[in-house]
Amino acid sequence: MRSSTVHNPMEAEQDEEPGESRSSFLWLNAMPSWLMSTVVHFILLLILALITVAPPIASAHLHIASIPVLQDEPVLDFEEERLPLDVSNTTLNSPSNFAINSPIDAPESVDDPTSIADVDPAPIHVDTSDSGQETVPRNDSTLPVGSYLGSGLDGRGEQARKQAVFTSGGNDASEAAVAAALEWLANHQMPDGGWNYDHRVGPCNARCNHAGTLTDCRTGATAQALLPFLGAGQTHKTGKYKKNVEAGLYFLTQQMKVKTQMGLQCGDLAQGGGSMYSHGMAAIVLCEAYAMTHDKGLMMPAQLSLNHIVYAQDPVGGGWRYGVRTPGDTSVVGWQLMALKSGHMAYLQVPPGTIVGANKFLDSVMSDYAYYGYTDPGRGQATTAIGMLCRMYLGWKKDHPGIEKGIEYLSKTGPSPGNMYYNYYATQCMRHYEGEHWDKWNVKMRDSLVKSQEKDGHMKGSWAMKGDHGTERGGRLYCTSMATMILEVYYRHMPIYGKNAAEDEFPL
Ligand SMILES: [Zn+2]
Repeated sequence: MRSSTVHNPMEAEQDEEPGESRSSFLWLNAMPSWLMSTVVHFILLLILALITVAPPIASAHLHIASIPVLQDEPVLDFEEERLPLDVSNTTLNSPSNFAINSPIDAPESVDDPTSIADVDPAPIHVDTSDSGQETVPRNDSTLPVGSYLGSGLDGRGEQARKQAVFTSGGNDASEAAVAAALEWLANHQMPDGGWNYDHRVGPCNARCNHAGTLTDCRTGATAQALLPFLGAGQTHKTGKYKKNVEAGLYFLTQQMKVKTQMGLQCGDLAQGGGSMYSHGMAAIVLCEAYAMTHDKGLMMPAQLSLNHIVYAQDPVGGGWRYGVRTPGDTSVVGWQLMALKSGHMAYLQVPPGTIVGANKFLDSVMSDYAYYGYTDPGRGQATTAIGMLCRMYLGWKKDHPGIEKGIEYLSKTGPSPGNMYYNYYATQCMRHYEGEHWDKWNVKMRDSLVKSQEKDGHMKGSWAMKGDHGTERGGRLYCTSMATMILEVYYRHMPIYGKNAAEDEFPL
């Protein structure tokens, strides 16, 4: 059994050196630099090869066989179909998980003729200047400790965070709510380092109600729990919760299924009913953790998770959905695009063609230039907020008519009492847009969350709402994660239309 031999970070001594990394998920630390370089360049080459050999995205419009009645809030519908691609049976003899106990041997145990071990070092000399050149990983050693890769995460540093809270709409109460939420999340971590949407099964011992039903999606639950820590600047290297974050990252990388898909080495983190949702969220976690710590041990897992997103994209319509390479929906697209953005900010490889496809998908669900539907043109609240945030990250400017119109719509609609999915995306749109709309939105959103947070006892710091599919399937953990990230909006991402934003733009 894996659990009997793998070192469990939760059992680590408390007095460990802060800067010292255990091997755990950081198996790449043990790789010689030439091998690391070979691996990175091999992946680069594979990406290039995929771009070259993959059929171009058809220019025909996306045809959807039946046009369902547009539901306003169909997002986070976890219970659709399972992954059509059963990876356990179809992988090319790739290890089903990271071989954490034998890091160096892991790639050599793969019989796949295209595996890393068989690759000649020649790819090192491949000229990558034609594709994704802006995103080649930077030499970590050139960055001072404490700085993050990519300016989009700059607000998470201790000082920057304090400053951002009070200059952009946060207050002591919102920060206290974030602190209490992190405490609740930490108290509901499972002994294996991950989280479960049924939060009752761990140390909670069923003292909190409103458990989620999506119990087979551990990667999604773990990613949702880790995102608020990272958002508040807590990593496995620094902060009060570094042991928790490290154990969570370890859990995630352990769950990753590494496999070669269309010649591309991918790391699949989709799990259970969460499918590509869970993958997208987990990919964001790995990319952010890597960007914030420059931990080389995370670079490969983060890149592999991005590669899986690249592979999983619908080759026709450009979107993503529950299963891989199927026509997309706006909700799943939102998480994948945010993951690609996080990876791009971390100087990982994001092929421009993937971004072009994402834009194409958004075009296919947009109506009146400003509103977005789920799988067809429409104007759902949550889907419009998701679509708009994606467009902001894809380069639409503040004075773009589609942005202005969409902001008016969200502003008029206002925060929802229970739809955390809509609130999460709309709050980010408003924050990026700034101005009067944001001020008005923020006061209402912030104060309602501060008010609705549990104040006493074991449930202190958590939330449980009703209002979208996620609140039921993800339960209290989901609600707490979303609410916390909303209250971290002041520093979690730097404003897109701020002066440092240009350098993070996608390579289009
Ligand atoms: Zn509890």
